[in-house]
Order: sequence, then structure tokens, then C-alpha cells
Amino acid sequence: MPSRPTDLIHHPYTPPAGFSAPQPGVYKASTVIFPNVAALRARDWKHKTGYTYGLHGTPTTFQLEERIATLEGAKQCLLVPSGLAAIACVNFALLATGDEVLIPDNAYGPLKALAEGELRQWGITHQRYDPMNPADLERRLGPRTKLVWLEAPGSVTMEFPPLAHLAHVCRQRGITTVLDNTWGAGLAFNGFDLRHGERFGAGSGADIVVQALTKYPSGGGDVLMGSIATRDEALHVRIKLTHMRIGFGIGANDVEGVMRSLPSLPVRYRAHDASARSLARWMQGRPEVAQVLHPALEGSPGHEHWRSLCGDDGLAAGLFSVVFHDRYASTQVDAFCDALKLFKLGYSWGGPMSLVVPYDVPSMRSAEVAKWPHRGVLVRFSVGLEHPADLQADVEQALAALG
Ligand SMILES: *Cc1c(COP(=O)(O)O)cnc(C)c1O
Repeated sequence: MPSRPTDLIHHPYTPPAGFSAPQPGVYKASTVIFPNVAALRARDWKHKTGYTYGLHGTPTTFQLEERIATLEGAKQCLLVPSGLAAIACVNFALLATGDEVLIPDNAYGPLKALAEGELRQWGITHQRYDPMNPADLERRLGPRTKLVWLEAPGSVTMEFPPLAHLAHVCRQRGITTVLDNTWGAGLAFNGFDLRHGERFGAGSGADIVVQALTKYPSGGGDVLMGSIATRDEALHVRIKLTHMRIGFGIGANDVEGVMRSLPSLPVRYRAHDASARSLARWMQGRPEVAQVLHPALEGSPGHEHWRSLCGDDGLAAGLFSVVFHDRYASTQVDAFCDALKLFKLGYSWGGPMSLVVPYDVPSMRSAEVAKWPHRGVLVRFSVGLEHPADLQADVEQALAALG
């Protein structure tokens, strides 16, 4: 006769089948129970045909992976605990001692830090290249180059590179490319198919597309997650093996948070875009501002590349940067940031709340690649979902604090 504690674990009741609701159920597991030893021995972690262990997938993670694959135009997808974990996992899977990886000079900062830290420590070298100049990338490719990172636009400085051309240069040499598609969110353009005015034709896209789901897909500023999408089964399995060996598990509640936000992603992205563009245009006319960096605005670096990839009526994220006139010292720009009331100071973006961060760009660049042309201080704006007129009024009152 089983004791009561045992009954609480092995209870005979099962709920009736046939429950269905708009949002899928949330399954949590470390242990996954096999029906018999034969099933345990036949376990297959490579395909979504069954379950082996919580770390290797549950119905909850499988569903989000399939949805992100659809969003990216991919065939396979892996979830990881952050956008940075996605970047790390791809590097760990594809690079070995003696290899070299190329990174855009304006890339997401922690990727550069990883290259300078662990990758260097493991005998993997890196070079930074000028993403606005495919010839610069081409001349840096060598027999040791195994991976090239792409990002559009550049983090913080917002230059939109000739992505299709960069990917094409790598493809011709048989070098694997990986695109950080966090800005585009799978909506502004397709990372696997970068035709760029048809100049490079079908097949000119990245081999791997990563995204920080932390940003727009989560949309709440409360979840950290990343995705690694591929179209090639062998490449996917290679990354999945590394993913399995380093134990990048995802919490089911975090998946639930992203699943709940995902249906509204296109609507939110357009709202962020429209609000950011109107504020960026207004700032272009302000005397305190030397330049507004927003790829969808004419006169911004790489605007023509954005237009040919994303289209004349193309989408853009709700991000832009402003370079203040160099008559303002960094302390004055700090005072502007501190005077903002609705825009909060904080990293990351993609949530409902507007954010700013001032950056010292020259310290983020390699002097050897391309010179940063501005002398004024740069502030990056992430436009949230507040009323656009309220945001403009907030910026206007804070500009008075510039002095
Ligand atoms: C935020 C961000 C990441 C990292 O995402 P986390 O989830 O914060 O680790 C990677 N790439 C880009 C372009 C980002 O903006």
C-alpha cells in the first residue's frame, strides 16, 4: 500500500485530453520520464521527435524555437539564455585554436570583449573590419578566417552596412557568416536572403542569424533570451552539440513571457519605428545637434543600403543616436541625460519604456580600421511606447539643461 507522500508524487489522476487555449501550456522539467528502457536508450536529442532532458528541450521551448525559425525565415532554431549567450555559443561551436574571426568595428560591444577575452585566451585571433567597406573586409580574409560577424546597423553608431555585399564576399570564399539580427528582429529584412537590389541574387545571405530576444520579441524589459537560427541541418547540429555540452538551459517562464509578446511583435515594432522616426526628424532640426544617426533618415551613414535592403517604405527599429555639437562638453551632455524625465538611463532596449545612454565612441573603435568622424558626444535613444508628443516635450525640456 503506497504511503501518502508517494501518492502525492505518483497520483493516478490525469486531466482529460482536449484542452486547448490561445497560449500553449508551460512545461517545466529537468527530468523527463521515458515510457521504458528501450525509449531511454533510443533517445534522440538531435531532432524534435521526443524528449530526453529539460536542458535539451520541452514542448514549451520547441514551440518558441519553431516560431522564431519562422520569424527569421530559418529551418532550425536554438534558444539560449541571452543574446550574448547566442553570440558566445556560435563562436564556441565554430572556432578552434589557430582560427581567426572577423568582427565589424561598430559591433555590439560584448562581442568584442569576448574576442579580446576568452577567444584570445584559447588561441583564436580576431580582426576588426570596416563594415561600410567590403574591400576592407575582403583584404582581411585569410586562410585562418573561419567566421565573419555581420550586424546591421552598427550598435550605437547606427551605420547601415552593405550587408549583401559583405555576405557575398564571404560566400565566394566559403567562409561562414553570422548576422546579429537584433535590430531587424526578423521584420525589417530577411537575414538569410539579402538580395540588395537583386545585385547578388538568391542565396546571398548569412549562414546563421542570431537575435537577442531580450529586445523586441520579449518587449517587456524583463526577460533575457537569445536565438540561433540556421537553414543548414549540419550547421545546426554542430551548434546544437556545443549548446548541449555547455548547458545553456532556458527557463519555461521566460519562454512563456516571449511567447505571450510574440504575436504583438510586428505591431509594436511599427509603433516604436514611427515614434522614433518622428523624434529623430525633429532632432535633426535642433541647433544643439550636429548629426542624427538613424538608417531610415536621409543623410545618415548607410541610408542607401538600408533603403535597398529594407525597401522605400521599409521598417526600422525604434533606435537612433544623436551627436551633439562639439561645443558641448561631456558633462553638459550628462546634464541633458539627467534632466530627462520619461527617458530613463539604462542599457538594453525594446521594451515599453524609453531609454538613453551616452557613449564615448572613440574609445569603442579600433584606430587602425576607420576614423570616427565626430568630435561631439553621442547619446543613443531607444524610443519606447509612450505618447510621441510626450517624448518630444521631455527631450525639449531637457535640452535646456545643456547650458
Ligand atoms: C542587446 C544585444 C545583444 C545581447 O543581448 P542580451 O540578451 O542582453 O545578452 C546582442 N546583440 C545586440 C545587437 C544587442 O543589442
